[in-house]
Amino acid sequence: MQYDTIIVGNGPAGLSAAIFTARANLKTLVIGQKLGGQASDAHLIENYPGFKSISGLELMKIFEDHAKSQGVETIFGEAERFEKDKKDNTFRIIAGRKIYEAKTIILALGTTTRKLNIPGEEEYLGRGVSYCATCDGAFFKEKTIAVIGGGDAALSATLYLAALAKKVYLIHRRQEFRGEPIKLTRVNEKKNIELILDTVPTGITGNKIVDGLITKNIVTGKEDKIELDGVFIEVGSTPTTLMAKELGIELDDAGYIKVDAAQRTNTAGIFAAGDITTNSNFFRQIITAGAEGAVAADSASKFIKE
Ligand code: NAP
Repeated sequence: MQYDTIIVGNGPAGLSAAIFTARANLKTLVIGQKLGGQASDAHLIENYPGFKSISGLELMKIFEDHAKSQGVETIFGEAERFEKDKKDNTFRIIAGRKIYEAKTIILALGTTTRKLNIPGEEEYLGRGVSYCATCDGAFFKEKTIAVIGGGDAALSATLYLAALAKKVYLIHRRQEFRGEPIKLTRVNEKKNIELILDTVPTGITGNKIVDGLITKNIVTGKEDKIELDGVFIEVGSTPTTLMAKELGIELDDAGYIKVDAAQRTNTAGIFAAGDITTNSNFFRQIITAGAEGAVAADSASKFIKE
């Protein structure tokens, strides 16, 4: 099957790009594994213009409906392999045993959840350890849990979980938080949230299911054990760049795809947008990912016309 552009990734960047490529009359396919990507895990989005308060998943469904209404085709699945035909400069993507061809590619694969890599994290995954508060929060009604991290995701997860759980410890390795001040204010107002600062988790304990967290204060060196039922890890993410490497696309030292202001990579015909790019290092939000997607779409359209 032949397309003008194939967008890999169906989060805010990929779906926004699709709306713009379709409206530029480019035959567009979006290949993605999880609708909305990480944005769908946010229980509440309060900073996307036009929506005072909406769940991440709901907003992403609206993005997808919008893209489809413009004629965008979507398939769920993994883009397993990329190839470039040197003769006619088309790209081939293999997904679900089918071959899809395109004149341009927009990579919008986002990021992958970062792990703590501490004892017990892998062992108790799904048995008290979680990376998604909205997915697993309901299992912890009236329980005691900890959230690890100091960014927007950790603050959002803490607020969401505090409405369900008996007690939430928010454990952060510094005194200052990266997340929005308004969220921190709300966290400080909740009586069942306790902040444990300058502290890192060093191990998760349990007996078939999680029963505790070992922590270390990085200022005093003091170790402690907290008895609890669950640990939500929200310590950021790393770019998903396996495919970019296959295509020989240039990355920065942290693994983000290097793009110029027009979202062009170092490879002609391949563009990138959203959390996977170096441009996103300035700010990682749905609105900025969407904007990068729109610019990438415009660049893909100009590339085809040229
Ligand atoms: P983030 O902003 O990168 O924050 C990650 C947090 O985890 C940081 O506080 C970091 O500590 C901590 N951390 C990292 N590695 C750690 C380790 N090994 N041990 C302990 N702590 C560790 O990631 P995020 O919160 O997932 O957010 C990602 C992006 O999405 C951000 O740009 C964020 O603004 C955006 N986002 C927005 C919303 C929204 O509603 N607006 C919701 C979620 C996410 P340090 O601070 O010390 O580095």
